[in-house]
Amino acid sequence: MPKPLILKFGGTSVGTPEAMQQAAQVVARARKQHGPVVVVTSALSGVTDRLLTATRAAAQDGHNGQTRAQAAEAIYAAHQAIAAALLPPERRAAALDAVRQRVETFRRLVEAIAVLGEVTPRAYDAVASLGERMSAPLLAAVLEAQGVPAQAVDAAELIVTDATFQNARPDLEASTPKMRAVLEPLLEQGITPVVTGFIGATSDGVTTTLGRGGSDYTAALLGAGLDAAEVWIYTDVDGVMSADPRIVPDARTLPRLSYREVAELAYFGAKVLHPKTIRPVVERGIPLRVRNTFNPDGPDTLIVAEAEASPGTVKAVTLIRGLCLVTVEGRGMLGVPGVAARTFAAVAATETSVVLITQASSEQSIVFAVPEGAADTIVQALESTFAAEIARRDIDRIGLTRGVAVVTVVGAGMQRTRGVAGRVFTALGDAGVNVVGIAQGSSEVAISFVVDAAEAEDAVRAVHGLTRR
Ligand code: ASP
Ligand code: MG
Repeated sequence: MPKPLILKFGGTSVGTPEAMQQAAQVVARARKQHGPVVVVTSALSGVTDRLLTATRAAAQDGHNGQTRAQAAEAIYAAHQAIAAALLPPERRAAALDAVRQRVETFRRLVEAIAVLGEVTPRAYDAVASLGERMSAPLLAAVLEAQGVPAQAVDAAELIVTDATFQNARPDLEASTPKMRAVLEPLLEQGITPVVTGFIGATSDGVTTTLGRGGSDYTAALLGAGLDAAEVWIYTDVDGVMSADPRIVPDARTLPRLSYREVAELAYFGAKVLHPKTIRPVVERGIPLRVRNTFNPDGPDTLIVAEAEASPGTVKAVTLIRGLCLVTVEGRGMLGVPGVAARTFAAVAATETSVVLITQASSEQSIVFAVPEGAADTIVQALESTFAAEIARRDIDRIGLTRGVAVVTVVGAGMQRTRGVAGRVFTALGDAGVNVVGIAQGSSEVAISFVVDAAEAEDAVRAVHGLTRR
């Protein structure tokens, strides 16, 4: 048997009748052209969010059952619409039966959470896993109806994880024999397995999830465990783009990206793959492509382990909005060790992740960017951490600048190309954008800078102009 192809569909690729129809066609065609195919599916778009919101609401405001009742209805209706559009009447009841059972499980779980008035990470996973447990049987039924023999497979049978609920770490070694034992016999019979993304189980069989967006991870794990020919991640845009096309109309699909570049893009706000999720396939040299369900013959992006040898320069530009800058400033900080450590310990205690840090070499200020929503908490935390220094005037103040954005320029070729930073800042100057702060990643595949939120899109467009040279 040839090596299988893994096809993963994100939520928007299965979220409507039209989308699921497209996805089914992509599967049918891949099967004809390539041979054995393993499908991985996300929940229908919006379903995981609804499940989690209703769970939270049940824990916080349990006597008000409206959110969970609405969620149950909306989730069922979304699946029903697909079944009505894509399944012949005689197949609908059976397919929707699986969905109905999951909706019932959802009702019972959130009822229990409402009674308890609290929710554990383990319970969150029990609920969150239901989205994929509804979409996979439905997609399998749609494939069958279109003449592709298919069978839904629950990934709890395939993927063994630790017990870090909501962000479980998979054990590929323990999972591989399970994947092979369950999926290879299906493939040999010409049946296309439709595996629930996102889900795993502890060695005791308790359901876990791999973190938000975890279906990509499922696809990569299956790719590694089954020694796949390739892994194709289907989404609703033409691969990974050089910028957000809503900001930059002439943004282009990037034909190749290295693992490091993907990591920088993901970290700095591009809606691409999470680097940890693709590592299992990249490490094994299995090609991974990002493709568009709605434009299956359009351009795609191939992710490779190493950057190309020939230096390009700027490849892509990303934007993170909704940030503010926090400044810890004072002449008394000069040469005093531990200020940075105490600053970031205080920030870490608020469970905020810091997007970008710069320190002037004079050591008289530390500046960092954090999400706007965390700003007040962080300022309070720092004021209490440094109360003594502030009283002594060693630290003048904890400053806060609201309404900033971070723009990041990514491209592995920048490492070997002099003057990229100069060109970037010239382009910004020419566009009249004022740069508030700068940081260059030590990886040298990215330069980030802070701009006023109002100038952020101009900054992205100005720098994107450099991707052509
Ligand atoms: N359905 C899950 C989520 O929304 C997993 C995924 O779509 O990859 O996070
Ligand atoms: Mg996703």
